[in-house]
Parts: sequence; structure tokens; C-alpha cells
Amino acid sequence: MAGAASARWLPAQRRGYAASMQRTVRELLATGEPSFSFEFFPPKTDDGWNQLWRAIRELEPLQPAFVDVTYGAGGTTRDRTVELVRRIAEETSLTVVAHLTCVSATEAEILEVIDELAAAGIRNILALRGDMPGDPSAAFRPTAGGLDYAEDLVRLLKASGDFCVGVAAFPEKHREAPDIDTDTKFLAQKCAAGADFAVTQLFFHVADYVALVERLRGLGCDVPVIPGVMPVTNVRQILNISRLSGAAFPPDVARRLHAVEDNPEAVRAIGVEVAAQLCRQLLAAGAPGIHFYTLNRSTATREIYESLHADLA
Ligand SMILES: Cc1cc2nc3c(=O)[nH]c(=O)nc-3n(C[C@H](O)[C@H](O)[C@H](O)COP(=O)(O)OP(=O)(O)OC[C@H]3O[C@@H](n4cnc5c(N)ncnc54)[C@H](O)[C@@H]3O)c2cc1C
Repeated sequence: MAGAASARWLPAQRRGYAASMQRTVRELLATGEPSFSFEFFPPKTDDGWNQLWRAIRELEPLQPAFVDVTYGAGGTTRDRTVELVRRIAEETSLTVVAHLTCVSATEAEILEVIDELAAAGIRNILALRGDMPGDPSAAFRPTAGGLDYAEDLVRLLKASGDFCVGVAAFPEKHREAPDIDTDTKFLAQKCAAGADFAVTQLFFHVADYVALVERLRGLGCDVPVIPGVMPVTNVRQILNISRLSGAAFPPDVARRLHAVEDNPEAVRAIGVEVAAQLCRQLLAAGAPGIHFYTLNRSTATREIYESLHADLA
């Protein structure tokens, strides 16, 4: 592991989190209420920003437990994440989680970002290794003087201050892991390093989530695992989802979607129905909440959320 202890050299007063009004995901999960959360990514264009802020404003009244913002490698992309989480923390009532990765950065550079996030009042960080820029399937090459694994970043964050730290989990195993048990062992290590919660990659079969949680509990790890769900709203997503996430897309659902592919409303209705059904099964199986991959749009997520909320009322 790269030397996480060096974070202690940073002056604590430079970190702004102590004054923040933001709640931690740890506190929110401890209430026992199902936690609904929405993921956004920082857009690259003005149109993208307008669409994102429309989605944020439309989803805000649903009072999600938290929203989170993905992180990309490189200067401008990195700055966009910091800017977006700062604005959400300052301009909305939402609790925000900033993603952070180990990609293309030395430990000192990662610490600078941690400092910026703390100064923006951010208390929740999802600690990720990340993938190689431009080709997520390429073998990961750590930066000299950087961190090798998400576990190292968890340690760095915990040594840097009182952050609530989340990590990624993979119900169908991470694509580089030799087998599912080895992958779960590394997830348990991230939790032993101090992670407070985990959020899963998207998936489509409740049994994969239940089995992951059972394996984790078998290793003595009791960290809450929030399942990630993405409603499919157009047929093109089917291929992309499997390619990018490695999740096995259910063939029966693919057949239903393809049968109505010329009718966007019908495709969306099926996507919403299938995702809502998965959410119901996950909550019934004891999931602490649902994490929605929104792709910066609000409609499908709002429909699913409202239908789940009606069940819970
Ligand atoms: C909820 C979620 C959010 C995400 N957000 C982003 C984002 O904002 N930006 C982004 O770039 N990517 C994001 N990703 C993608 C993620 O960065 C990639 O999937 C990456 O390949 C793995 O990240 P990780 O944090 O799980 O890595 P790690 O936990 O470090 O695992 C990487 C691989 O190494 C293995 N491993 C782990 N620890 C060890 C160890 N100590 N020794 C040996 N092997 C080990 C694991 O089994 C796995 O195969 C996200 C993924 C998820 C599920």
C-alpha cells in the first residue's frame, strides 16, 4: 500500500468539513429508513449542465438520502466534479457524496483534491481505484507515487479527517478479479480499512446481490451495501450496459425491449417496470436502500421512486 500516513502532515485547519452542515451517509443509513440516492456525472457542455440542473431540481423534492457525483481523471474533469459537489452543497438542500479515484495522480495530488473537497464542506467520499482514461478495459497502471487500489484511498481518506467513506462493490465480480470469492475478500479488506458503506455496480438479478452480501457477512464484514439500479430507457443502452459494467443483461427483458424498439414510450415503460420490480425485490431482501444511476435525467428515476414510495407509505 502507498503511504497513507503522510496525510497526517496536512494542516487540519485547512479542512473545512468541521463547519459543514452536510450529513454523513453513515448517519443517514443508521436511521434504518430506506435510503434512496441518485448518481450524476459532471457534464461537458452548457446544454449538459442545463439538463443536469433541471434533473437535480426535479429530484430534490423527493428528498433523497444523498446524491453523488462521479469523478474523471485529468484536470478539467476533476475540477468539474469539485465544482459540481460544491454547488450542490451550497445551493441545494441535498447531502452530496463526491467520487474520487486514484487515476493519473500522485498521492500529493490526491491529497490536494481531498483538501478542496473538505474546503467545499464535503464529508462523504466514494473511494475508487478508477480505470485507465480512454479505455476502461485496459489493465490499470498505477501512477508513480500514487495509489494502487481503492483500499489505499480509503486509508488515505480516513487518515486525512473525519470523512464518511464509501467503496464500490460488484455483485457479478469485478472484471479483473480471478473469481468472485477473491473479489469479495478485497471488498472486505476495503471495509476493514475503514469504509462506512458500499454501493454496487448496476446488475439485474436480485440473487447476485443477496449472494454478495452473504459472502461479505461470512467474512465478518457488516458494512451496509446499497444496490445500484439503472432503468433502461432505450434499446441502445442494452449493449453499452453489458460492455461497460460487465452486468449480464436478462435476455427475456432484452427481447421485450427489442419487440417495441420503434416506440420510445413503450421501451421506457418496460425499463421503468423492470427496474421498479428489481428495487422491490431488493428492498424485500433487506437492502438498506436503492442507488439510482440517473444518467443526469430525472423522469424514469422519479417514476420508479414514486411507485416505491407508494408501496412504503
Ligand atoms: C458505485 C460505483 C461508482 C463508480 N464511480 C466511478 C467514478 O466516479 N469514476 C471512475 O473513474 N470510475 C468509477 N467507477 C468504476 C471503478 O473505478 C472501476 O470499476 C474500477 O475498475 C474498480 O474500482 P474499485 O474502486 O472497485 O477498485 P479496487 O477495489 O481497487 O479493485 C480493483 C481490482 O483489484 C482487485 N483488488 C482490490 N484490492 C486489491 C488488493 N489489495 N490486492 C490485489 N487486488 C486487489 C479487485 O478484486 C478488483 O479486481 C465506479 C464503480 C462503481 C461500482
